[in-house]
Amino acid sequence: MSRVVLIFIDGLGIGNNDPLINPCSNKECRILNNFLDSACQSKPFDGIVLPLDASLGVPGLPQSATGQTALLTGVNAAQLLNRHLQGFPNQTLREIIRRESLLKKLSDRGKRVAFINAYPPIYFRLGPEKLQRHLSVTSIATLAADFKFFNFDDVLHGRSIYQEFTNRTLQDKYPNLPIFTPQKAGSILASASRRFDFSLYEYFQTDRAGHSQNMELAYTEIMKLEQFIEAFFKGTDLSGTTVILTSDHGNIEDLSVRSHTMNPAMTVIWGEGKAQIASRLKTILDITPVILDYFAGKI
Ligand SMILES: [Zn+2]
Repeated sequence: MSRVVLIFIDGLGIGNNDPLINPCSNKECRILNNFLDSACQSKPFDGIVLPLDASLGVPGLPQSATGQTALLTGVNAAQLLNRHLQGFPNQTLREIIRRESLLKKLSDRGKRVAFINAYPPIYFRLGPEKLQRHLSVTSIATLAADFKFFNFDDVLHGRSIYQEFTNRTLQDKYPNLPIFTPQKAGSILASASRRFDFSLYEYFQTDRAGHSQNMELAYTEIMKLEQFIEAFFKGTDLSGTTVILTSDHGNIEDLSVRSHTMNPAMTVIWGEGKAQIASRLKTILDITPVILDYFAGKI
C-alpha cells in the first residue's frame, strides 16, 4: 500500500487549446497542458489525464463550497441544497464535512493524515469558533478530524507550505518567512508528505487569477504550478506513492469569462495504482470513495 498525495487546485478545468484565453495553452506547459480535444494523453512522470464532471447534476455553474464538499466527502452537496453554493460552506455543508470528510474517515481508520497548508497567526489568535462562517471546506475537514493545523513555524522548519507557496504575499507582515521558489516549495511538499499515509495540499491562486481574467497573472500562476509539481516529483518516489491532482470546477482555463466554467475539472493521476484509480473516476464525487477503497485494499 503506497501513500497518497492529493493536490487540490481550485478553479482549474480542461478547456480549449486556445492561447488567447487559456494560460495552459503554451509551449512551456508540460503537465497542465490538457485540452478538451486531447484530454486523455500521458503526461510527464507517466500521469493519466482525466476530465471529471463537476456539474454535480445541478443546473448552473459549479461553485467552490458545494464542489469542494463533493470532492472531499463524496456527498453530492449541490443536489442536497438544490443549487451550487459559492464561497464558504453553510451549516448544512459544515455538518456533512464534519461527518463524512475523507480526512476524518482515513484518520478513524488509523491512517496518518495531514492537511499540509500552513495557517497564519490570526487563525490561531481568533480560533475556529469566531471564524466559523469563514472556514474553508479543508479547514472544517481538518478540525473535524482533530488534526493540528500547521503554522508559520512549520513553514520555517520545512514541515508545511503556505497556500501561496512562495510566501511572497506574506512578506509585508512576516518578513522573517523566506521567499521560496516554486521548486523549493515543491521539494518541501515532497519531504513533508513522506511523513504521512495521506497528505492534502490546497492551492487557490488559480481561481483568483481566473476571476481576474488577466492572462499575464494566469500564465504566471500556471507556470508556478508547473515548476512546483515538477520539483515535487523529483523528491517523490512514485513506486511507493500515488499522486492525484484535481480541481472543484473550471475557471482559469477560459479567461474569456469572469465566472467559473462548465468545463470538466482537470485531474491527473500518477504512480502506484493509477490505472485502477483512473478507471473508477468519472465525476468529482468519485475522488473520496476511490481513495477510501484504495486504502482499504479494494483497488
Ligand atoms: Zn471562484
